[in-house]
Amino acid sequence: TRKFFVGGNWKMNGDKKSLGELIQTMNGAKVDPNVEVVCGAPSIYLDFVRSKLDPKFGVAAQNCYKVPKGAFTGEISPAMIKDCGVNWVILGHSERRHVFGESDELIGQKTAHALENGLGVIACIGEKLDEREGGITEKVVFAQTKVIADNVKDWSKVVLAYEPVWAIGTGKTASPQQPATQCHLCNISVAEDQRSVTGGTCKELASQKDVDGFLVGGASLKPEFIDIINAKA
Ligand code: 13P
Repeated sequence: TRKFFVGGNWKMNGDKKSLGELIQTMNGAKVDPNVEVVCGAPSIYLDFVRSKLDPKFGVAAQNCYKVPKGAFTGEISPAMIKDCGVNWVILGHSERRHVFGESDELIGQKTAHALENGLGVIACIGEKLDEREGGITEKVVFAQTKVIADNVKDWSKVVLAYEPVWAIGTGKTASPQQPATQCHLCNISVAEDQRSVTGGTCKELASQKDVDGFLVGGASLKPEFIDIINAKA
């Protein structure tokens, strides 16, 4: 089994002042050494965050493109991410899929290219509310997972984050039991991601069978992120 994994996805939030303060809090905190922590920073701050954050914490880009360089205005490559000393990328986040229209196929191509270039990949999967209510959760999540899996040779570099879209940032709370019913879909390490991962709920969630990590949004921007990192301690 791998280390418990706690990812923070800062999304398009923060500035040098507020992220600098968060980094100071993290650097000064007592954290469980048995937990792998990775912070997903906005691309323009990757260099800044990597230079300030204690090296015991990983940093992730929140996206990258599928080729090394070229005429792709606005995109960044895994090579550029690595050049900033950053070793991870989040791919297939539901906001990339559903706000920016990224397909399973594109996410598979990005996964292959990021892994070939030595990045670790936090690959996100998860069904939307209408898909869940339509009874096609397994079909959707299986299809998303298959395209990712087809592009992975070495799973030690991949964290698969199951985040039901209906639970993200909506205030709806996935019950701690829900993750386990999903996990048989992928017979590999699964990082759980729910709206309900907060300082208050993390201990109960972390103790659930088959939950071996979190990918946290809003709460990862607050000092309670330290409590979430230490959920297993
Ligand atoms: P929230 O924790 O804010 O619901 O966001 C979850 C998420 O999307 C992490 O990638």
